[in-house]
Amino acid sequence: MPTESISAWLETHGLRLCAFHWKDLPDTICELIQTALPQNTNTTHTQLLLLSNAGPNFWRCLQGSELAQHAEPVDAFSLSLATNLQQTFIKTAPFVQLYPTPIGQQHIPLMRLGGLAGWNIPSPLGLGLDPQFGPWSAYRVAWLTQATELPKSFYVLRDAFKLIDLDALQRSAELCVSCDAPCEAACPANAVTLGESFNIQRCYEHRQPEHSACHTHCFARKACPIGSEYQYDDAQLAHHMSMTWR
Ligand code: SF4
Ligand code: SF4
Repeated sequence: MPTESISAWLETHGLRLCAFHWKDLPDTICELIQTALPQNTNTTHTQLLLLSNAGPNFWRCLQGSELAQHAEPVDAFSLSLATNLQQTFIKTAPFVQLYPTPIGQQHIPLMRLGGLAGWNIPSPLGLGLDPQFGPWSAYRVAWLTQATELPKSFYVLRDAFKLIDLDALQRSAELCVSCDAPCEAACPANAVTLGESFNIQRCYEHRQPEHSACHTHCFARKACPIGSEYQYDDAQLAHHMSMTWR
């Protein structure tokens, strides 16, 4: 399978893909996932695939889709794209959906998988920062499959985990510690402080009133210079942030 064809398809849809051989994943992650699966799940999977939107193209594609009218448009569109990807490029049937989380299923460790992929660097925003896309990416679909081998560039192999973690620490230092932290000044609730954990309680209390400018907007996230060219537009940001109130 040519790397370009799948890469071009992902870019067109504002997505990126990371693949793990199941045998390469840390035991703790495998155990968490196995525990979350329903008991009758076919567990002959060999790979875990993680799909993320990155930047605004995903939302633009969604707006041009009939699934924009769906009650859960982001999840429905994400799953349709993952199914399309599976059928077009992977061509094997088994597809055990891990995320979006099927009803009754426990949560799977998305953030840890994102960390292994190098997509998730801690930040004072309470969101993982991506070195390229900053705070403008999100996990969309994770699934288990017996995929035909994808091009090598999509795989994160066990040997790379340690390297990625080290890289992540270094990039974290570069990304936030050497930044003037405009996110701090932009937050009207003082919920964001460089070097401290995100104060979710302060943020929540400030956002809760419907008249709050933060009800469906985040000034701190918008102020981050990392990946600013990939920012979501206000409609997309409002859609994601309104999920808090559902
Ligand atoms: S939503 Fe508002 S209060 Fe919460 S972090 Fe963003 S800017 Fe601060
Ligand atoms: S604005 Fe600077 S300190 Fe704040 S999250 Fe972005 S890179 Fe980190």
